Amino acid sequence: MQQNPNRICRRCLLEELGETDYVESVRRYRARLPERERTPDDVYDARLDACRGCDQLVNATCNLCGCYVEIRAARRSSACPASPPRWSAVR
Ligand code: SF4
Repeated sequence: MQQNPNRICRRCLLEELGETDYVESVRRYRARLPERERTPDDVYDARLDACRGCDQLVNATCNLCGCYVEIRAARRSSACPASPPRWSAVR
């Protein structure tokens, strides 16, 4: 399916927007994080599921912090900026 570059997509991640260059950058970023800093895959997926269900997600960006959520979720120490948070840091 062809993506409309001007489309505003609520509750979409970069991958779903067809932003293949950014998606690849995120994958490389995650892969290069030391394991002690990288969010485990299952937790990462759960974080992104929470973002997909959040009203603050627009065009893969969190309205509260301005981050691409796929990048924010990649670090164990990161947390959702909402109050209360929809996901938290992990050790
Ligand atoms: S507020 Fe939290 S759950 Fe919502 S998009 Fe931002 S990081 Fe994701």
